[in-house]
Amino acid sequence: TLQIRDLSMAYGELEVLKGVDLDIPAGTVTCIIGPSGSGKSTLLRCMNRLVEPKGGDIRLDGESILAMRPEKLRRRVGMVFQHFNLFPDHTALENVMLALTKIKKMPRQEARRVAEARLADVGLAARRDHRPAGLSGGQQQRVAIARALAMDPEIILFDEVTSALDPELVKGVLDLMATLGRQGMTMAVVTHEMGFARRVADQVVFMDEGRIVEAGSPQQIFDDPQSVRLKRFLAEVL
Ligand code: ATP
Ligand code: MG
Repeated sequence: TLQIRDLSMAYGELEVLKGVDLDIPAGTVTCIIGPSGSGKSTLLRCMNRLVEPKGGDIRLDGESILAMRPEKLRRRVGMVFQHFNLFPDHTALENVMLALTKIKKMPRQEARRVAEARLADVGLAARRDHRPAGLSGGQQQRVAIARALAMDPEIILFDEVTSALDPELVKGVLDLMATLGRQGMTMAVVTHEMGFARRVADQVVFMDEGRIVEAGSPQQIFDDPQSVRLKRFLAEVL
């Protein structure tokens, strides 16, 4: 379980998170929705300390990640970005292996075995020797997901991972994420894909202006919104 308590974060004078409390139980999928600039990416970035919060705490199975060594944090919390962030000069297989040999200090032989298995899991066994430029956007994103999975993390964070994809490639990536969710992977997913949130999320969190305004089941959030702000947001995106 990931527990976020009274989390605050500011970029200089600009307060971006204003006391966020959130629990993400192990084995569940939390989708985070909300307008542009509401702090969704910043919240995810705090969860793996790409940015340092100003106050509050984040605990992973009781252990504060704010006190954790960076290498340990990278192993336990995976992240997938909108722009895949693959190394262009390395093949799909090497991209997945690199995290294992560099961060996990895994011997190359073993890293290769794990990387091949994870690429097979995301349906890319046949493409492992291609560089990113030789893969579609959807395939590149699946390599990035394989790379996150290879670390065997306790939770994976996804930030708008389908937003940069051509429409026809979105479904394959969302289906893969849904499968991971069903298999019990703990996931925090920032998304504009409301259909995905409704189908896959155990919990949907609506953020606005640095705060969680409403959280609940997909049914509660989409069929019975309480706040004016959520009603207005849904009217715009649905
Ligand atoms: P979007 O849906 O557009 O991705 P978001 O909900 O992910 O939005 P954040 O990226 O977390 O929003 O940004 C929250 C606020 O912080 C915004 O006002 C944004 O302009 C500001 N912000 C984000 N990153 C930085 C940065 N590196 N430096 C300064 N301000 C930033
Ligand atoms: Mg964002």
